[in-house]
Parts: sequence; structure tokens; C-alpha cells
Amino acid sequence: MIGSVRGLQDGIRGLRRAGCGLLFPPRCVHCDADLFDTLSGPCLCAECLTRCGPEQWYGCPRCGAPVSDENYSFDDCPGCCKTKLWFDTVLVLGGYHSGLRDAVLRMKRPSHDPLSLALGQLLWERRRDHLSEIRADVIVPVPMYWRRRLQRGKNNPETLAGCLARALGVSMLRGVLVRQLNTKPQAGLSPASRFRNVRGAFRVRRPDGIRDARILLIDDVLTTGATCSEAAKTLKRAGAAMVAVAVVARA
Ligand SMILES: [Zn+2]
Ligand SMILES: [Zn+2]
Repeated sequence: MIGSVRGLQDGIRGLRRAGCGLLFPPRCVHCDADLFDTLSGPCLCAECLTRCGPEQWYGCPRCGAPVSDENYSFDDCPGCCKTKLWFDTVLVLGGYHSGLRDAVLRMKRPSHDPLSLALGQLLWERRRDHLSEIRADVIVPVPMYWRRRLQRGKNNPETLAGCLARALGVSMLRGVLVRQLNTKPQAGLSPASRFRNVRGAFRVRRPDGIRDARILLIDDVLTTGATCSEAAKTLKRAGAAMVAVAVVARA
């Protein structure tokens, strides 16, 4: 009975979606091009899909830095060989340049939630196997300082984390990792200053939810890894067993 009701609901939803598609043809949430065949998956046109989400990302498994050499070893990775990073691995949708950089900058604006959702879905579609292999127990977005969150009206990592939580079927923990310091923006700081700038920025509220947990930590961009490393350190000191990071773009 429940199954048939659900089938009917799905049918109505499908018809409604098709009807809306005829009246208002769906458009790419990034460049506004008409979409002719996309009623499921990320609302991006073929060109934006290619520019924003390469099929593969060849990166250092520890810090996500792009690598070109197949025989590469992370003992001499410029992104992490001399830096103590507290997360265990990084998953990346693409490089922080051209199309994806534009998209990331646009999705930070208050009215661009559909673009954040589309990039979250694209991250899932392109890196599904790797995301599943992490076997995350919970998903945690990198939080903003409360006043900044209020001013901006949204926190992108939270939108992305919501997408991945739905896709993976695990809970997103909001308000467990808290940003307790209103740190200066990282942009424009030297790598060493970035690590200093975020020191002590986070704290964990209600550590019970993350004790011994495998955590998937979500941010939009990773540059030196300072912010995610500080967040991972805070989570691990509160009892997390493992912290993997997933980001839309790797600078
Ligand atoms: Zn487009
Ligand atoms: Zn590395």
C-alpha cells in the first residue's frame, strides 16, 4: 500500500516536473544556457559540466595537490611534505581556475544556492566511488563564524555537505564543529600566516556524536589546507577516528 502511494507520488512529481519543463525550459544554473535533456542530476549545461568537473582528478592522496607524474610519491609533494596536515586524505572535484573558479566565486553570493547544489551534485557524480570508499559515519561542514553566517545568509560548505549527506545516506552534523574565532580572511596571507591565523579557531560542541567516527569534512576551496587541517585537528582531539576532506576546488 505504502509502495503504491509512493509510486503515485513519484508519478505526479514526474508529470509536474515534465510540465514545468515545457512551460519553463530548465536553464543552466551557471551560464543560463537552455538545458534540453537534464531534468535530473546537476542543472548544468554540457559545457559547464566539462569546465567545472573534470572526469578525473590526478592529485596527491594526502593533500589533493595536482600531480602530473604517474610515478609521483607523496614524500616529495610540495603541498604536504613539509607541512603537518591533520586530515587523512583530500578529495577534489577540480582545480581552482577558469570555469570552476568562476562557479565557486558565484556560488558564494547569497542568491546562488542552486549553483552550490549543482556543484555538490557534480562532486557526488564525479567522485562517487572515492566518496563511498571513505565509509564516512557523519558529514561535517566547515563552519563560519556566527556573525559572518548571519550577514551572508548561508554557508556554502553546509549546502555542499547537505547534498553529499543525502547522496551517501549519512547524517550531516551541524553545530557540532563551531567556529569560535572570527579570523581574518585567509586570502592574501602567506602560507605560514594562514596556519597561524586559524589556530584555535574551532571547537567541538557535543563530542559524543563524533567519538570514534569517520568524518567527511566539507569545504568549498582548499589552498594550503590550513583551515581544514585546524578543523580536522579539533575533531580528532575531540575523539574522531579519521577525517577525510572533500572540496569543490583545489587551488
Ligand atoms: Zn552552463
Ligand atoms: Zn600532498
